[in-house]
Amino acid sequence: MTAREWWAGGERTLGTALGRLVEADYAGASLLPDWDRAHVLAHLAGNADALTNLLTWARTGVETPMYPSAGARDAEIARRAALSPADLEAEVLGSTRRLADAVAALPEEAWTAEVRTFQGRTVPATEVFWIRSREVWVHAVDLDAGVGFTDVPDGVLAALVDEVFATWTRQGVLPEVTVFGGDREWGAGGPAVAGSLADVAGWVTGRTAGEGLRCDGPLPALPRWL
Ligand code: ZN
Repeated sequence: MTAREWWAGGERTLGTALGRLVEADYAGASLLPDWDRAHVLAHLAGNADALTNLLTWARTGVETPMYPSAGARDAEIARRAALSPADLEAEVLGSTRRLADAVAALPEEAWTAEVRTFQGRTVPATEVFWIRSREVWVHAVDLDAGVGFTDVPDGVLAALVDEVFATWTRQGVLPEVTVFGGDREWGAGGPAVAGSLADVAGWVTGRTAGEGLRCDGPLPALPRWL
């Protein structure tokens, strides 16, 4: 599967999770400590808009950042999270449709144009597919609406664990652990931790306490991811 297929499947799965939520669910807890489901959905809408901005940048050559500032990003999440469930659902669907339209409208040559993520990384426009895949798949799980890491394609799970380890390395906080998931391996030294890709991804992203994983002794503590 290509990252573009991961993205399309992730948007479908997010739509399925969204469709399962009734009004009263929006104020319910997500799997993230500080956000209810409405905040997760508000963030997903804002992320779609932000990635649409990157595709505008790639198409026009005019610098169009994902968000004007961290403060503006957070204020927009708070604004949308306070909407009625019906209005928030419409914002999520509208923003994902605008992103899909921007994808469809981007000329072939513009996909290699360089843009900058909110974290300051310079990437080709094609990276939008991975960034959005990561967001829709992980946050579809965070909605706690019947989607789990076992529903996420193996390629997405492996790329997710790659990204977590790369982030820890960049931040200088790589823990001493060797992780085996599926037929893949990450890290070096420390205790060996093994399990399914889904259980590994849930653990390294901080979504689970490591249920389903095997280790000689207690699981090591992990730094936060993002
Ligand atoms: Zn996110």
